[in-house]
Amino acid sequence: MKKLGFGVIGVFALFVAIIVVRTLMLSGSSVAAAVENPPAYDGNAIAGRLSEAIRIQTISWSTQRPPDAEAFADFSAFLERAYPAAHGAMTREIVGGHSLIYKWAGTSAVEKPIALTAHIDVVPVEAGTEDLWTEPAFSGAIAEGAVWGRGAMDNKGQLIAIMEAVETLAAEGFAPSRDVYLLFGHDEELGGFAGAGEMAKLLKSRGVHFEWTLDEGSGLVQGIIPGVASPVALISTGEKGSTTLRFTASAPGGHSSAPGKDTAISVAARAVIAVMDNPYPLEIDGNVVSFLHAIATQMPFFQRMALANLWLTGPIIKKQLAEDPTTAAALHTTTAPTIIEGGEKTNILPQQTTVFVNYRIHPRDNVAAVKERAIRLIDDDRVTVEAVGGREPSPAASARSDGYRALETATATIFGDVPIAPFITLQGTDTRHYIGLADDNYRFTPFIYRSDDLARIHGNDERVMIEDLARGAAWYEVLLRETAGD
Ligand SMILES: [Zn+2]
Repeated sequence: MKKLGFGVIGVFALFVAIIVVRTLMLSGSSVAAAVENPPAYDGNAIAGRLSEAIRIQTISWSTQRPPDAEAFADFSAFLERAYPAAHGAMTREIVGGHSLIYKWAGTSAVEKPIALTAHIDVVPVEAGTEDLWTEPAFSGAIAEGAVWGRGAMDNKGQLIAIMEAVETLAAEGFAPSRDVYLLFGHDEELGGFAGAGEMAKLLKSRGVHFEWTLDEGSGLVQGIIPGVASPVALISTGEKGSTTLRFTASAPGGHSSAPGKDTAISVAARAVIAVMDNPYPLEIDGNVVSFLHAIATQMPFFQRMALANLWLTGPIIKKQLAEDPTTAAALHTTTAPTIIEGGEKTNILPQQTTVFVNYRIHPRDNVAAVKERAIRLIDDDRVTVEAVGGREPSPAASARSDGYRALETATATIFGDVPIAPFITLQGTDTRHYIGLADDNYRFTPFIYRSDDLARIHGNDERVMIEDLARGAAWYEVLLRETAGD
């Protein structure tokens, strides 16, 4: 009895030791800054130029409505005027009508080129919401330490930050060791087929293969993760895929006074319930573990202990992550019925009902498997399931490459000792067209997004803080020096 007691205590002591050691082993970020004094940019000067960029209404309306050629030409002319040194150092091509390929030729023929990307187009302001803006949506107003207007964040702020860094480097005679491309698409908000798609085809035909590309699609978040006060840099190494399944339910028609057991509507409803009641399981994979470990370093001891010991606490943490739709979306393939059509008269049994269900596909799943799973769950031959278009999830980029290290170094240089972790982009970006054209595709905007910022993107009162613009430009400068310097 006594012996057994000691055994239990021994196991318990070991258990506690493992938990504590794992907790203590989680230390802050080990990324060193590239230089002690990072470059400083004049935020107000950048704000003035972004303001001008916002006033040029480069709107992507719809695939049915051609882009405003004059606005896009104005935008190109504005860039030339605002960034003379950059235009002196780089060549520029206009592709697909309005997209821009800049090439800054490198001195070494050995190193692979890199590409910094952004998009020129913006989404329209929804009719009827114009008056909800604090400042008119295309005014580019500068107030309260921010530049306001459609495109401030998505994505002209990023484009301008890139140009500011190139302008500074070009003006001082910086010669990149490798080819640096800037790829600015003009129809990202419509899928990027005319812009990024055409640029990718052209580059491929020329045999260009990038070591890495960097696009929008993630960034630093602050005040969004409970318990973490500091900004957290999330470098996206992957992008979810998507597909929409059309469920078509059929049943006999007739008068509603003598219905059978089901109508097409109830058959369709059962199909929807079948997929909604069986969501994809949430899984904590390698990227999520890195993310949780990175934020753990900023947390009080007991929370850090929980995150350091996912082998024990995984199920509880998963439950917490599931409560927020955004974090839940990063952990599984999501299911969202978005359109239902069926029935015409209140006294006629509908013979057909159609439901569209949109899936955002986690990299561990694929388009064909999503369809097969839905068919299996519905298990009803009165329902046909077809995929309406589909885009596979992107392959995962390396979180150990030189490129990833350069992104980390630039982040540590400009933002200090903040947690940095790989993440996944939940929406589509132009990068879908550059898959296969690079060893690795990354997505990261060097701006801090606060809790109310996410609703501003594609919503009202889109804006970017002037300090973010200054830091963003400096971040690109450090990145270029790191990756294309001597
Ligand atoms: Zn965008």
